[in-house]
Amino acid sequence: MERNAFNIAIDGPAGAGKSTIARQVARELEFVYVDTGAMYRAIALYFLRKGVAGTDEAAVSSQVGEAGITIRYQDGTQQVLLNGEDVSGEIRTEAVGNMASAVSAYPAVRAHLLGLQRSLAAGTDVIMDGRDIGTCVLPEADLKVFLSASSAVRAKRRFKELTEKGVACNLQEIEQDIIERDKRDMNREIAPLKQAEDAVYLDSSNLTIEQVVEAIITAAFSKGLNLSGAGGEDFSVEEEG
Ligand code: C5P
Repeated sequence: MERNAFNIAIDGPAGAGKSTIARQVARELEFVYVDTGAMYRAIALYFLRKGVAGTDEAAVSSQVGEAGITIRYQDGTQQVLLNGEDVSGEIRTEAVGNMASAVSAYPAVRAHLLGLQRSLAAGTDVIMDGRDIGTCVLPEADLKVFLSASSAVRAKRRFKELTEKGVACNLQEIEQDIIERDKRDMNREIAPLKQAEDAVYLDSSNLTIEQVVEAIITAAFSKGLNLSGAGGEDFSVEEEG
């Protein structure tokens, strides 16, 4: 007998390890990993390329419809297309992350992506990460996790990640950036970063990736996950309108 799709929502501040952990949980459970931050980043890239300021809400809101976002899966990896162009690599800079944090505060931008995010989760086993997944996007998710870590630990992790990629960076600046981004994400009026009442809180500051992955998988089973008849095929979904 077919079972219902199981949805896991994972929210938390920048650099808490959400994407690394969600990707690994997805691999172990054969779920689809949906990175919603990548969608906001692709929109941010659209406006950075156009030279529109992140503070110009009127311009961003009236033009966001021109940024067509498609999510595609190849061999289990998410790719983000911006008007048909694969921008998965180009969106991974601090400049794009900061712009994403600015434009994601606008209702028109959030509305533009909500349908796409919900349609990805409908009928599919997903682990979706972001800031408002448990509170707004998937309020009925089977398991909600709020993953955090101290800003010092998060900055160190980001520093290591960037340094390993050969990007020159400064630890203090990264921590300052993270603190500012969190403040913006937590204090915006629409869909702020906050823990859903029914979310499991995990502080990853002193835990290994494996320990966090294990905790989430254990929580999923305790919420009734039953792994029979799962499967992951390549597919793609576009936002509407
Ligand atoms: O997670 P990531 O750093 O890629 O997200 C970039 C920015 O996109 C975040 O700082 C946040 O402002 C925004 N975002 C959001 N809601 C989500 C995912 C990301 O507002 N569900």
